[in-house]
Amino acid sequence: MKNYITHHPWKIIEEGYRPEYNRISESIFSLGNGKFGQRGNFEEYFSGDSLQGNYLGGVYYPDKTRVGWWKNGYPEYFAKVLNAPDWTGIRIKIDGQELDPHKLKLIDFRRELDMQNGHFSKIYKAEFPDGKQIKIHSTRMLSIVNDELGAIKYSITPLNFSAPTEILLPIDGDIKNEDANYDEHFWDEIEKSASARAPYLITETRKTHFRACYAMHYSLEVDGTPQSLTQFDSIEETKYIAHRLNVKLDEKKTTTIYKYAAVVTSRDHKNSDLKTVASEVLAYAKSKGFCTILDEQKAAWKEKWNHGDIAIEGDTAAQQGIRYNIFQLNQTYTGQDERLNIGPKGFTGEKYGGSTYWDTEAYLLPFYLSTSEPDVARNLLIYRFKHLQKAIENAEKLGFTNGAALYPMVTMNGEECHNEWEITFEEIHRNGAIAYAIFSYIRYTGDKRYLADYGLEVLIGISRFWAQRVNYSEDKQKYVMLGVTGPNEYENNVNNNWYTLKMAQWTMQYTMEAINYVKQTIPEEWQRIVTKSNFVESDEISNWKRICENLYFPYDQKREVFLQQDGFLDKELKPVSNIPAEETPINKHWSWDRILRSCYIKQADVLQGLYFFEDQYEKETIKRNYDFYEPMTVHESSLSACIHSIMAAKLGDEKRSYEFYLSASRLDLDDYNSDSDEGLHVTSMGGTWMSIVQGFGGMRIKNNMLSFNPFMPEKWKSFSFKINFRGHLLNIVIDKDNVNIHNDADEPLKVLLFDKTQTIEANDKITVDMNCQNK
Ligand code: BGC
Repeated sequence: MKNYITHHPWKIIEEGYRPEYNRISESIFSLGNGKFGQRGNFEEYFSGDSLQGNYLGGVYYPDKTRVGWWKNGYPEYFAKVLNAPDWTGIRIKIDGQELDPHKLKLIDFRRELDMQNGHFSKIYKAEFPDGKQIKIHSTRMLSIVNDELGAIKYSITPLNFSAPTEILLPIDGDIKNEDANYDEHFWDEIEKSASARAPYLITETRKTHFRACYAMHYSLEVDGTPQSLTQFDSIEETKYIAHRLNVKLDEKKTTTIYKYAAVVTSRDHKNSDLKTVASEVLAYAKSKGFCTILDEQKAAWKEKWNHGDIAIEGDTAAQQGIRYNIFQLNQTYTGQDERLNIGPKGFTGEKYGGSTYWDTEAYLLPFYLSTSEPDVARNLLIYRFKHLQKAIENAEKLGFTNGAALYPMVTMNGEECHNEWEITFEEIHRNGAIAYAIFSYIRYTGDKRYLADYGLEVLIGISRFWAQRVNYSEDKQKYVMLGVTGPNEYENNVNNNWYTLKMAQWTMQYTMEAINYVKQTIPEEWQRIVTKSNFVESDEISNWKRICENLYFPYDQKREVFLQQDGFLDKELKPVSNIPAEETPINKHWSWDRILRSCYIKQADVLQGLYFFEDQYEKETIKRNYDFYEPMTVHESSLSACIHSIMAAKLGDEKRSYEFYLSASRLDLDDYNSDSDEGLHVTSMGGTWMSIVQGFGGMRIKNNMLSFNPFMPEKWKSFSFKINFRGHLLNIVIDKDNVNIHNDADEPLKVLLFDKTQTIEANDKITVDMNCQNK
């Protein structure tokens, strides 16, 4: 664990340059605007250890699958998140000496991410070997108002000299992925011009043929006075363009460069329009200027925070942690493009191919449902609806028929693109999370029409898959599900994973309910769906019923717990505390085979099921299972802590709940798992939000109403969170004595607070004390 980020409620601050942490900082200072994003790399030439990273949403490369090619049904490719051209460079040479922060003495070095306003800045003084001192101050943003625009303000002040200086402003498309097999390059150059009015570079990905056009505009000021730029050299090299300016820097005078880049791709525009659109983006930047663009950025972020902030009083570390998570989630996905989704690393690193995992449905949907307009979360669902046909084809490849749908474990475009057989073929529980997301969305928004329009077709496809994936065991006289991997990936190819069986049974039951609903309320839509999906009601429904009633669930009579899978009790059941500290994390120290044979659990598995379906179980049952499984859980997935935090809160273990929350919320800022250098754990950030809102706030939906059962973590003075619920913007403020709920809408709202119905009048609030007495 590192502890070098200064605690601050709204900012992420690094003081002092630590080359050994540079990659971590680059991840932490990542920026994104839903459409493109980048790591917090230096603009300057930088010779230190760095992971250069720019990423374009939805742009990928179908890399060769390196293992498993002999297995039929195997995915044809592994979707690599591509490093994209870099537009951020500002390279400075003073009197022929390169400004390379890694090589110079740095004084008062500070990097700062302003989460409230959405920009990243860097300020330092550098001393050259000949004693020249210079001050640098840069501010960079990716506009969320015009999401094809990036802008940098870069100021240089010589402190004790005047000297001729070269400023190089490149767009560099000659990049590759750090994890490229065989040093492969993924981009080809299509067109470029460094001498055009707006110099540009167009490159195209190999195989997938995504085109990206980068164009730039820049201007210069000295002490606030605009300079005319008649003298510059245009440089063109392979996949590279640049302008070189030769200026004279005068002692104590500040020269400021404004560099704007248009980043437009063929995902959004025709190839023939790319240049024109890029020019329009730059014209917009020119007409507004940096200050206005920054003001617009601040206003847009203010709006986001108004809808989704969480404020914590009395614990700055926790405050910074949660705001950082919310900030990164909002940078990664804005819901404006239903073809995009949320990759485990967002726009912050190359690791993990593909952009969409079950993480979206299981860990992210609740955040977007509660903090954005309903269409944002809806777009996450529509994404899967649009991939239904591909999911059916995916299942067909594996031998399933009749419209059975198996959604990919990892995807960019609906096709499976993961490369481990035990995950691709066997981690089929993801199908259940996709069904569950439809249920959660409707439960939260009340938008039942969604079933008829989109949801039911998806549910039918998934239920058909489950019905074919089980088989009848003569021995057990029950339906069983063989050869699966549950959410606990430290077990592969097991029989009867309780969680997967639960998801299967629940999906079929929910699908039958949904069919009844649509059939009765919108019969013409039901007819359309029957025809479209060739649904044979009498056969399929009775089959699903039979399976649901006769599904086998492994259970330990003695301990009265659900068994993670058949044979789990044959393992040596020892708590995690038995593992010597130097052997953790076990995934870095033990052989894979030893992990598989051990009882140790990577992340919530049975408990994930009890979390989803807590209403179906007595608290004692949940507690028995929690007490049995949690001690054997190593939490080596970043998705683990949040579910355990929420469960611990439900079971009244507030201390444990808080501990789980803390490790999740500062996972990247404090580099808990020593892997933040590779990029951020973006999908687990949704889980952190859930820990506060569902864990500490005890928020649920019950009987169509919001319900809260909050507690106050001991270390905090108060906390509050904002949510949107069916047109009501609510601010829930919890302190040691009271719960206040403000209803910022023109309609009253009924909520459950400590299981009692309360009405909050329009534009009003209620106050209830923590001992449940109305004040
Ligand atoms: C977890 C999966 C998750 C994936 C991407 C893995 O380590 O075990 O549940 O989907 O990471 O976040």
